[in-house]
Amino acid sequence: MRHSLIDQDVLPRHSRVVIVGGGLAGLEVARHLEARQVDDVLVLEAGPGDELRHVNQVHDGDRALRQWLLPETDPYYVRPWAALNAPHFTGTSGLRRRVGGRSLYWYGVVLPAESWALTPTWWPVTVASDLRDSWHGGPSLYDRTLDQLASWCGGELPGGDPVPPLRDLRLETAPLAVRHDPDHPGRWHAYSPLDTWRDPRTGEPRGGRGGVRVRAGAEVVRVVIRDGRARGVLVREGGGGVREVQAGAVVLSAGAVCNAGLALRALSEVRGGPVRRLPSLYDHLVQGFLVRLEGAGAARLLDTLPPGSYYAPCAPSARSNLFVHVTAPSAGGAVVDAQLTGEQLPSPGTWIEQPAGLPVAVYSCLSAEDATMLDGQREILQSVWEQIAGHAGAAPTALAFRPFADPASAGAAAVLPQSLDARPAADPLTWSGYIGTEDHEGGGTPLGGMLTDRHEFAEIDGLYAAGPGTFPRMGAANPSLTTLALARRLAAILAGTEA
Ligand SMILES: Cc1cc2nc3c(=O)[nH]c(=O)nc-3n(C[C@H](O)[C@H](O)[C@H](O)COP(=O)(O)OP(=O)(O)OC[C@H]3O[C@@H](n4cnc5c(N)ncnc54)[C@H](O)[C@@H]3O)c2cc1C
Repeated sequence: MRHSLIDQDVLPRHSRVVIVGGGLAGLEVARHLEARQVDDVLVLEAGPGDELRHVNQVHDGDRALRQWLLPETDPYYVRPWAALNAPHFTGTSGLRRRVGGRSLYWYGVVLPAESWALTPTWWPVTVASDLRDSWHGGPSLYDRTLDQLASWCGGELPGGDPVPPLRDLRLETAPLAVRHDPDHPGRWHAYSPLDTWRDPRTGEPRGGRGGVRVRAGAEVVRVVIRDGRARGVLVREGGGGVREVQAGAVVLSAGAVCNAGLALRALSEVRGGPVRRLPSLYDHLVQGFLVRLEGAGAARLLDTLPPGSYYAPCAPSARSNLFVHVTAPSAGGAVVDAQLTGEQLPSPGTWIEQPAGLPVAVYSCLSAEDATMLDGQREILQSVWEQIAGHAGAAPTALAFRPFADPASAGAAAVLPQSLDARPAADPLTWSGYIGTEDHEGGGTPLGGMLTDRHEFAEIDGLYAAGPGTFPRMGAANPSLTTLALARRLAAILAGTEA
């Protein structure tokens, strides 16, 4: 079904704001611009706009999970970058090239970046304070965004409820911007800015003031620079032809890596010579274990932790959050999926580069601090397993980990539920993820470095960026609450209505 939001006309010659990439960040900026009466906003999205609903709304849970973990089953999957040190940034690492981007895949976990990460050493003081303390004398950006998500959820954001401790392990329900479909059990969708313009369950058009047009199948190949300023973009459409769209402001929101590729070309023009590399590309570092429990032990666990998603922040020194997902398979028993999401620190040993005439390329490896963090995660996971085993009456065996990202225990296949089938009960299966496969990739164009604290490139007037690529440092928190909060801030700056 073609949606009225998706513009079919000839590309306009000019728009007040051109947004490059119609995923979570770009569409959220567009939504806020429309709400602030900016009526000439063009979103250029490389992928199609034929299906605007979340994968877990369209498909059952098993198929949706496969579309993520086995990307060859997802027609929208692309990896537009070359990985210079595979397996990092290979496997599931990539984009979901479609209108909505990964807002149609994400799980809705919304956590603010921790105060130990939002420090002045890393984040501009103004931005950190706007996010956390107060924005223009009112509630902070995090509070406003959480309020908006709560009202989207129908009043209250689920999550944050403490559950009875499993021995020393204190968990709470994970905060999720997710709605379940009452008419189709098992189907759900996480928040997407597309919800402004279409019904998330049916995909039917609704709402919106008409200030935003989205052009699908429009790939931005270059930012047009004249007199040192961004003046528009060059767009390649389905037929292969390239056209220029002029703009008062250009916002890069094509994901951290593609943003960096476009930024490198633009910087080469303003500096009058090739700029090939931007330092620091990071993702969350993730490892965990899966275990199946049977009989009375499984029942005891499910009594305390019914099927659902739970969360606990770890101590700041661990730079990690713990997630525990519990399911009760129809065959009986319980499956526990415990994982730690840890911060990969910015490091000059990681980068994004744009070789002449070739696709953008990435290099990522662990720094010494990251390796220490991963060792700490293993100690925490051992303790989590001991608490769970103790509660379920299983033997608290030592978790056997292979080196981080060892292909024998890494990658998507390791975390598909079937990987547990051949395994005895109460025998945990450990795994770790290649860097870049958590889909939280950020860096390259940090606020307070490449960007001013107004989200504009310090060297290129009129060019802005949005999304996790703009985070100076990630913290342990999943990135999207910060992405949404910063999109609100950027839209107010672009609209000139910063209150
Ligand atoms: C399965 C899954 C679960 C997740 N769960 C969570 C979670 O629970 N909590 C959380 O915080 N985060 C989660 N994430 C991560 C989150 O979805 C991403 O951080 C977020 O979508 C990034 O937003 P973005 O707009 O930068 O990128 P995207 O949403 O990927 O959007 C980028 C868009 O730009 C388009 N594009 C790229 N290049 C061009 C170009 N040259 N021209 C035009 N268009 C272009 C792409 O096609 C894409 O549509 C999850 C991700 C996945 C895949």
